[in-house]
Amino acid sequence: MNLRISALEYAEGVQNGSISAEDFVAGTLEHIAKVDEKIHAFLSVYDGAVDRARDIDKKIRSGEKVGACCGMPISVKDNICIRGEKTTCASKMLEDYVSPYDATVISRLRDEDAVFVGKVNMDEFAMGLTTEFSAFGPSYNPWDTSLTPGGSSGGSAASVSAFECVASLGSDTGGSVRNPASFCSVVGYKPTYGLVSRYGLISYANSIEQIGPLARTVKDTAFLLDVIAGPDPHDNTTVKGGGRYLPGIESGIEGKKIGIVSEMTGEGTDPAVASATSDAISRLEGLGATCETVSLDMVKYSVAAYYTITATEAGSNLARYDNLRYGYDLGVEGYEFNSYVEKARSRFGPEVIRRMILGGFVPSAGHAGRYFLKALKIKSKLAREVGGAFEKFDLLLSPTVPMLPFEIGAKIDDPVSLFLVDINTVTANLTGRPAISVPFAVSGKRPIGMQLMADSMCDAELLQAAFALEQTVRLPEVPL
Ligand code: GLN
Repeated sequence: MNLRISALEYAEGVQNGSISAEDFVAGTLEHIAKVDEKIHAFLSVYDGAVDRARDIDKKIRSGEKVGACCGMPISVKDNICIRGEKTTCASKMLEDYVSPYDATVISRLRDEDAVFVGKVNMDEFAMGLTTEFSAFGPSYNPWDTSLTPGGSSGGSAASVSAFECVASLGSDTGGSVRNPASFCSVVGYKPTYGLVSRYGLISYANSIEQIGPLARTVKDTAFLLDVIAGPDPHDNTTVKGGGRYLPGIESGIEGKKIGIVSEMTGEGTDPAVASATSDAISRLEGLGATCETVSLDMVKYSVAAYYTITATEAGSNLARYDNLRYGYDLGVEGYEFNSYVEKARSRFGPEVIRRMILGGFVPSAGHAGRYFLKALKIKSKLAREVGGAFEKFDLLLSPTVPMLPFEIGAKIDDPVSLFLVDINTVTANLTGRPAISVPFAVSGKRPIGMQLMADSMCDAELLQAAFALEQTVRLPEVPL
């Protein structure tokens, strides 16, 4: 059983009878049992997936119509709700929380006969970029288990990279899909804000985050986006007007203008990452695009603005975890209200507590002008600059992350240096633009991803460019 095939190859094989969904899903679960001891991508695995896959095979044999995902094994970040299953957000606070409903992305995939194989690891409440802040222990990079897989959707990226599923869903608030995709050499996609419903995604910073697919190829990514995107009455920030993403993906990039963002490629960029970026530029030029440097001055303040805004939203979003509405078994005996809530909330991990303290302080009456309002000003200036850049360019290019994947533990005690890893990814979130990380190179055993960004609602064009770039790349296989 070859588990290394793409989602589209899988779908074709199942439809034409050369692959049995049941065998493939059973093989996937066996493989998870074997490799996940080392990778720790999964927080829960669904054995019932095999029964669901068997039903798909039966339907096909009896000539019934099956959905486009036809039993495809998919993993799901543990902050996206699946009815009747635990959604822990990798937090002790929600350790026993069972979702009473499906997220919209889940019901859309279910309608197309996808099979969920389990929930995958993340930084607690999606705060972080190494999965080391998971309350259930870190995930490990399949390329080299001494390295972090990135985060916060580290379990998603590791599970795709280690062939423990065909594709995964993650969430991206400031890079959490693209960063681990880059570190694990898979494709990771952050859609235009509003293109994909957030209904059933547990909010961290809801004004800028999106659910996005992680997959082995750009075509698989476009295929999944076709399934999950589109307006949703349950999420009034969703927008109309998205198109189809897989059809036309081979259109190429002849004549496209690409801006190389100088603030995302200069100082502080690892030499191997810098040289991969130059290489990417020549390949894009080889495909008929023109590349030119562009400066986005506000990028240098973007990380500070991002953490100020996200902490503020997190502070309010996480206020609901008082152990009255959501929580765990903690007897009330011996507490009055405040001491009870205080005790209950001590279950949050240190990074979440840091963000909540920050999120209480920066928007508070005496300080908002200095911090929160300033961050909002930076956000709108950045949006104006990026808008200006898209008047001239079709796409913007940078490495996804300025450094190579690093060792687990290397930055855990230094939050500021950890925050700075996000420098190339937060702009897309703060400005609502779509962005993708495409596997591009491997230095030793450390993958490097290239990021392309497009203007809002130009997701189809972005995927076309990513596909064109991907076609120029031949990478080694993950040394599993
Ligand atoms: N590293 C960023 C943070 O910790 C991004 C997280 C994300 O995109 N969810 O907030």
